[in-house]
Amino acid sequence: MEKILEIEDLHVHFTTYGGTVQAVRGVSLYLNKGETLAIVGESGSGKSVTSNSIMQLIPSPPGKIVKGSIQFKGRDLVQTSKKEMRAIRGVDISMIFQDPMTALNPTLTVGDQLTEGLKQHTSISADSAKQKAMDMLRLVGIAEPDNRFKQYPHQFSGGMRQRIVIAMALICEPDLLIADEPTTALDVTIQAQIMELFSEIQEKTGVSIILVTHDLGVVARVADRVAVMYGGKIVETGDKDAIFYNPQHPYTIGLLHSVPRLDMQEAVLQPIDGTPPDLFAPPQGCPFTARCAHAMQVCANVYPPATNLSASHQVECWLQDARATRAASLMKR
Ligand code: SF4
Ligand code: MG
Repeated sequence: MEKILEIEDLHVHFTTYGGTVQAVRGVSLYLNKGETLAIVGESGSGKSVTSNSIMQLIPSPPGKIVKGSIQFKGRDLVQTSKKEMRAIRGVDISMIFQDPMTALNPTLTVGDQLTEGLKQHTSISADSAKQKAMDMLRLVGIAEPDNRFKQYPHQFSGGMRQRIVIAMALICEPDLLIADEPTTALDVTIQAQIMELFSEIQEKTGVSIILVTHDLGVVARVADRVAVMYGGKIVETGDKDAIFYNPQHPYTIGLLHSVPRLDMQEAVLQPIDGTPPDLFAPPQGCPFTARCAHAMQVCANVYPPATNLSASHQVECWLQDARATRAASLMKR
């Protein structure tokens, strides 16, 4: 399968008066062409910082990518200039955020906002731009696009507004769409419709999608692969079925505790006892040690090596390493 994006050993820090927050600590992941990768984890796990890094949307200062590379279509986005990045944004890579209202301008018609990106980035005629915008409105399931084209954002419901934002994100036919909690601000029934829309759009356009979410129901519905983040690291990654039916990391298992079935609709991550690690002074060993029922001596001291359970399923936990479990059982005797 062709990889469209490859992140290698990404480290992102935020410098504050209180010290340096090591928000992302050595993340590596890839995205195959035409697939949906879900990045899941609690808030503060580093998932949004990872996805924002792709588009150079880390506010600097205080943020900084201190190490790593992000390969996209033959170039390293970490090294790309701000000017080049502006040309990539919206055209090659688009992003959708939680609240559709922040992405829409209340003083412009939906039609103007839809065609703006096209006119900015291509030499398309006004007529063709309008035609394309109507096609996009139809694609995202908005009826009577002729009338809707002339209306303002406040004339649409929240769900409809998010559909318009999706249409705007897709109008220049990007290769990659990044959606950060795209349905969190919406009602549950509307959430389901929007996720359905993502699947339909992917089928029709072949766009590759990174979905950042804390909602396992959303993951179950649309993801092909899943990366589970904890304490600024990816602790487990695999195909959706491997993660849901054969999770190996104690944190992943904890997350899934409340989601016995893939068809569960509204399963949101259940809190796990304890608090996430302090990323001002991250633990040198496994960041889950303080909350893990299986923690061994080695866990607190040394970060676990990655274990490949299959070509696509990888986990970073000492339970997978015979050396650690042998040492632990010897100590118990
Ligand atoms: Fe638990 Fe140790 Fe595995 Fe971390 S490495 S998840 S503390 S068993
Ligand atoms: Mg976030």
